[in-house]
Amino acid sequence: MSIEVCNISKTFGRFKALRDVSLRVESGELVALLGPSGSGKTTLLRIIAGLDIPDPGTQVQVRLNEEDVAAHNARNRRVGFVFQHYALFRHMTVFDNIAFGLRALPRGLRPDRKTIHLKVTKLLQLIQLENLGNRYPSQLSGGQRQRVALARALAIEPQVLLLDEPFGSLDAQVRKDLRKWLRRLHEEIQITSVFVTHDQEEALELANRVVVMNEGHIEQIGSPDEVFHQPATEFVMKFLGNVNLFHGRIEDGRGIFGPWEIQTETGTEKDSAPARLFVRPHDLDILRESDGTPVARATVQRVQSAGPCVKVELKLASGETLLVELSHERYRLMHPEMGENVLISLRNARVFTEDYHI
Ligand code: ADP
Ligand code: MG
Repeated sequence: MSIEVCNISKTFGRFKALRDVSLRVESGELVALLGPSGSGKTTLLRIIAGLDIPDPGTQVQVRLNEEDVAAHNARNRRVGFVFQHYALFRHMTVFDNIAFGLRALPRGLRPDRKTIHLKVTKLLQLIQLENLGNRYPSQLSGGQRQRVALARALAIEPQVLLLDEPFGSLDAQVRKDLRKWLRRLHEEIQITSVFVTHDQEEALELANRVVVMNEGHIEQIGSPDEVFHQPATEFVMKFLGNVNLFHGRIEDGRGIFGPWEIQTETGTEKDSAPARLFVRPHDLDILRESDGTPVARATVQRVQSAGPCVKVELKLASGETLLVELSHERYRLMHPEMGENVLISLRNARVFTEDYHI
């Protein structure tokens, strides 16, 4: 079942929480809405679910399975919703929690007792809690509770599954395990799903497409690879991982950023324009002799080698600080010493000006 929203804006009082958002999610996709707190992710999810209505407008549409659902309330949209804070019923067993949505259906649609039992048993297997049906939520771990919340959402056989920071309140290791688990589950049941997160690692690892949001609008939609390696805007570049930033200028097709000069593909309208260069720490390298590419001189300030890569903090002659990430192999080879003067080369730098980027 596809999801499509067109030209969605949402105003609370005078505050614009969403500004003209359009998005299409194909059947079977697992899409992440990624953005900082307050960027409008939950608002967009609630509008898809029918829990909120968008500002009126002639082009405004919310479509599920190609059908305009503006007139349908949340109940009729057959949407499964999982919230950040697992709102399980504390006085009900796991089994009864999962069965709740089915038992609450109007008489004509409600399955009989046997069917409900069979269905809940299957869901308990799916979330790998087949032996815990009789427990109460307080007797479960946070990760188990969140899986029950997911099973409860799936019980009514929703057309789409919407998850609002489903792992937000859990600790790091449990989050990682649940992430893998959710991806496998999605591969198994292939239900069109949209999940909200402010955690870039979670979005890149789980989703097949990522929607990067900022201040109520979409900055970029793309595969995890695209948003990470070809960020469309400065915001996306900064939000998805660490960056070093340098202020400089574009002059006659050349980007001049302190010690680095970069050939750019396009010129600006003007002869000269302010520009910013972004480069990720792992795209910088430490050299002792120039390799023919533009290099900057810098002094090693700090080395931190515990972790998957070695982090080296340096100071440029201009006084700016710089973070370089080396593989352990490269670090052993170069072994930069504290206080040593070295050369820094860069690759995969991205240059942004006011009106275009390369
Ligand atoms: P996110 O989920 O990305 O953190 P939200 O969609 O929850 O962001 O909120 C976006 C903005 O809209 C926030 O600044 C929030 O304060 C505001 N907002 C959300 N819901 C309401 C509401 N019911 N009334 C007033 N402001 C709201
Ligand atoms: Mg939110």
